[in-house]
Formats: sequence, structure tokens, C-alpha cells
Amino acid sequence: MRAGYYTGDRTYEVREIPEREPKGDEVKIEVAWCGLCGTDIHKFEGKNGASPVIPPIILGHECSGIVTAVGPDVQYFKPGDRVAADPSFGCGKCIYCQQGLPNFCLERHGVAKGFSDYVYPPEQNVYKVSEDLDLRDAAFAEPLSCVIHGLDLIQIQGGATVAIYGLGSIGSLMLQMVKLSGASRIIVVEREPEKQKLALELGADYAVDDREIEQLAERLNIDYVIECIGLKQTMEQSFRIAGKNSKVLLFGLGDPDQPILMNQFEAYTKELSIYTSYLNPHTTKRAVALLESGKLNTDAIISASLSLEEMEEELKTQENAKKGKVMVRLSGKH
Ligand SMILES: [Zn+2]
Ligand SMILES: [Zn+2]
Repeated sequence: MRAGYYTGDRTYEVREIPEREPKGDEVKIEVAWCGLCGTDIHKFEGKNGASPVIPPIILGHECSGIVTAVGPDVQYFKPGDRVAADPSFGCGKCIYCQQGLPNFCLERHGVAKGFSDYVYPPEQNVYKVSEDLDLRDAAFAEPLSCVIHGLDLIQIQGGATVAIYGLGSIGSLMLQMVKLSGASRIIVVEREPEKQKLALELGADYAVDDREIEQLAERLNIDYVIECIGLKQTMEQSFRIAGKNSKVLLFGLGDPDQPILMNQFEAYTKELSIYTSYLNPHTTKRAVALLESGKLNTDAIISASLSLEEMEEELKTQENAKKGKVMVRLSGKH
């Protein structure tokens, strides 16, 4: 079978590796689609993702597919099941798993490296999806589950005013989820005219650039700011535009070596709460349910569907990733 590796120093290679049968509680999935995540690009650029990166590693963790075989201990899956995989393993035994915090599991590792023809996650990481759900959409289960966790943390109240930084693929999901949560006004902060247009199409009330938001913030009390870019300037601006009694969620992944500045006194006078969000504990089932409901527009977010081989060029140029979500076609089944 083929697997797409990050081989260090901004290089990527498709290698042939042996295919095997599933053991124990493993579910063997023929991967249909895998999303390219911002963290894959981070890794390719030599920065750490959610975990340290020691090449060579297989990229991808947002995959869907069809079960082709199951290990002898598997109870709930059979060949032919359509599934999405949660890539984050929780051992269930360590001190964090015991507290219901599998995102901090001491044994945590990626169990569904989706840039490959087959993955073998344990049963506990596999979720059935309905016949009607397109498998390319099912591959959104992981990024959407991360978005849901972030939103679980900040608990948006009905009628709130919400600003979202960045309309990349995460920002686009965030926007649609905030819309569903009953916010009264949604402001997307984005420099690119194309993305501003998309923001309005996806339900934003305002699409403004980083200068205009400062003026808007004087008029409106922004209750929630969700930063989905991870740049120093936009993270720092998030604190400034946040209103009284507001919450800022720093969702975008920043540079590990780049601290950011916050004026404590200003934050104090606003009674600002700052949140960060790490991975996707207990949210994959809800992500699948949302995708099945058809309430989210994924077509508008996808900028390209590419083969495993075409990812070499894409990782180098990020030509399509800059415009939206890149989906990697493995079996390409729908
Ligand atoms: Zn991801
Ligand atoms: Zn654990």
C-alpha cells in the first residue's frame, strides 16, 4: 500500500509499505478521503503539531473510508461499514484518561495516519457514518470535532455578538457552527476579498479587515472573539477588540517560539476570559451527527481534491491550501 511521508527538511515522499491484517481490536479501513490539516503543513515546515514531530512520519489524520477487515476482538464493526476515524488515541488508563481528559493522554499517539491506503485504528476510535453521508464530507469529522470542543469551552449564549478571525477551513466551520448556536451578529475578520465574500455567503453579518474591525469594536460590544489564524498580530488584536465581560478563544495554532503580548490592565477592566482548545475529546460523535444533518456546507470550503502524489507540490506551494480545504483522494469512494 502507498503512504505519504513527511521525510524531514520540507520533503515529502510517497512510499510503498506492507499492508497487513488487523490485530486485536483494530479495524482495518480502506481510506477514501483524508483532509489536509494546517498542522500537516506545520509539520512539513519543521514545526511541531499537537505532538513533537520526528520524521519520517505519515501525514494526515482526518480520514474516512470503508471497513475491509476487523481484528478478532472487534465487537461493533464489520467489513463494508462506512466510517470516520478519530486519530487521537486515549489509553483509558492513565491519570488524564481517568479524569475524562483523553486529549492529554500520556500514551496519546496518532492512530489514523490518513495519507495512506489503509489505516488500523482501534475500535474505540472508529465512528459509523450513514449511507447518505458522502465519504469526502465524513473526512470533516476530525476538524469539526476540534471546532465543537472549542465551542463547548466558551459556551456561546444566544443573541451574542461574535467575531471570528480568518476564513480558512477551520474559520469556515467555526462560522457555520456559531450561526447554528444562535448568535445575533457574526463578524468575520479577513483581508482577502474572496474570503470576505464567502463569509457573507456562509452567514456572516459583517466581513471586515483588521482595520475596520477596530472601528466596529467601538460600536458593538463583542462578546466572543474566536481567533482561527494563529498569527501574533491577530491574536494580540483579539484581546483589544473583545468587549466587556467577553471571552477570547485562541483556536489557531501559533508559532511555538513566538510569545504574544496582552495588556493585563486592559484585560482586567474588561474582565476578559481567555481560552485555548486542545484536540477533540468526546466530540466526534456529535461531529458525525452534524455532518449527517446536512446543516454544514463543506463544498464551499473545499478548494481542491488531490491525489497522494500531487501532495508533494501542494505541500511546497500551498497553492490550494491558501484558498480553502484540500482533500486528499485515496480510494476516492463516495
Ligand atoms: Zn486536523
Ligand atoms: Zn491515557
